[in-house]
Amino acid sequence: MEIEFLNLKKAYQELKTELDQAWQDINNDAIYILGRRLEQFEQEFATYLGVRNVIGVANGLDALTLSIKALDIKSGDEVIVPAHTYIASWLAVSEAGATPVPVEVNPATFLIEPKNIIAAITTKTKAIMPVHLYGKVCDMQSILAIAKEYNLKVIEDAAQAHGAIDSNNRKAGAFGDTAGFSFYPGKNLGCFGDGGCIATNDDQIAEKLRLLRNYGSKVRYEHLEKGVNSRLDEIQAKVLSIKLKHLDEWNTRRRNIARLYSEELKNVSGIILPKYDDGDVWHMFCIITKKRDELKDYLTQNKIGSSIHYPKPVHMQNAYAKNYHKGAFPITERISDEILSLPIGPHLGLHEAQQCANVINRFFS
Ligand SMILES: *Cc1c(COP(=O)(O)O)cnc(C)c1O
Repeated sequence: MEIEFLNLKKAYQELKTELDQAWQDINNDAIYILGRRLEQFEQEFATYLGVRNVIGVANGLDALTLSIKALDIKSGDEVIVPAHTYIASWLAVSEAGATPVPVEVNPATFLIEPKNIIAAITTKTKAIMPVHLYGKVCDMQSILAIAKEYNLKVIEDAAQAHGAIDSNNRKAGAFGDTAGFSFYPGKNLGCFGDGGCIATNDDQIAEKLRLLRNYGSKVRYEHLEKGVNSRLDEIQAKVLSIKLKHLDEWNTRRRNIARLYSEELKNVSGIILPKYDDGDVWHMFCIITKKRDELKDYLTQNKIGSSIHYPKPVHMQNAYAKNYHKGAFPITERISDEILSLPIGPHLGLHEAQQCANVINRFFS
């Protein structure tokens, strides 16, 4: 039996009756943009996160870009970002006209390292963007303390961490001045196309974001700001309301798979397993191995999908390479060479994960 890296069809099948009904209801109303379904989802997700405001937008990149703009960070300003992340974290800073300043991550957690943040602060630094990569919450206590000491804003990139909690039971997305979420289909909470949102406890910032996402307009044909068109549509909002009710259960299934891998692979020499924290939501289960490419090929031969997040660091991408040289971020570069994402998700059976672990054990024995 083939084991796919990701299978989104099963998520639809599990909720088919409710989703199909929703599709009919929406088309009966025929209101597609900025309607009651968006308002409802925004309230539900705000309650879920424990924040005052959620603002739906078109995608995760916009959620981050608009956050930066709403916080009045612009050309000449610097935002500290992790070197190891998806490129969107950096692009949001660039898109807002500011400069991303990358710092190394912790090799055990893959997350931004607080002491490296302090070393990167300059007079131009305006904000820190912690990325809760792979569904693990950054060390927010340290990061918030640094932000307070240096008077910096905090913009969380929570695109991979819907429902993740830290050791104090606080949800990713509830710490920063703002937090950006993505609802890209493969995310822990994903819609049927592109989608995203911003979470914030600051009512004024929320108000500004509601303007910015809709042409700078609150009253039709009155434009208070040079806004953009970045709205979460009614269909996506309804899909998300339906799926949100299952998020915790689906995250639990991910944890069960992560626990299985952690147990079954713990004695394999040649692999470094990801650190397991109870609040992680395992958007990805990433192992480190010097034999990454050979292992990936072996898994493919055994009809098991795997993936690499991410094969080339952001600072070595053509988009940013002129500012950096190879070797600038050795930890990040080593991760890119040695990291491998194993199949995980709410619709991957434990028996499939077991089979995957067996094949990995066989490869190393
Ligand atoms: C997916 C993702 C984004 C961007 O979200 P989109 O909805 O694809 O624009 C940003 N940051 C991280 C870490 C992501 O994984």
